[in-house]
Amino acid sequence: MPEANFCLNCGHALDQREVGGALRPVCSQCGRVHYFDPKVAVGLLVEQGQRLLLIRRKHDPERGKWSIPAGFVDAGEDPARAAEREGLEETNLRLAVTALVDVYARGSDHEGADILIVYRAKIVGGSLQPGDDASEAAYFSLTGLPELAFTSTRRVIERWRAELDETDSKTPN
Ligand SMILES: [Zn+2]
Repeated sequence: MPEANFCLNCGHALDQREVGGALRPVCSQCGRVHYFDPKVAVGLLVEQGQRLLLIRRKHDPERGKWSIPAGFVDAGEDPARAAEREGLEETNLRLAVTALVDVYARGSDHEGADILIVYRAKIVGGSLQPGDDASEAAYFSLTGLPELAFTSTRRVIERWRAELDETDSKTPN
């Protein structure tokens, strides 16, 4: 859990008190209870043919490994727009969210986000070029995946694999 030592309202030192069944920082001066909100991230599943768009991470954690384009949602930002913004920053592609894939709780590793919302998106413009937190951006087939960062990327790829298998089984040979 994150920590807080001083009141955001009046600057007084905080005490720990039980509020609503949990220990929370409470200001003994002004009475404000400090609630910690979950940190929300968004990720993108972008396909081209039967290949998936991945970016190579420029920074720690998991530097040098590959993940789906992803990033944090700013306060007040629509998560779908945040996903498109992160996608543009990391891949230089203009993306349009088309569907919700899934919502994931924090994995066993500490990825910085408590909740990850993954959207499917289609490419509506731009040309593939890495930027921001990405040192490379490329498409990969299921059989040629690079070293992956994060449990969440592996879970999204498992989902994608299941979808591809389903599509294959519906396609007559
Ligand atoms: Zn206070």
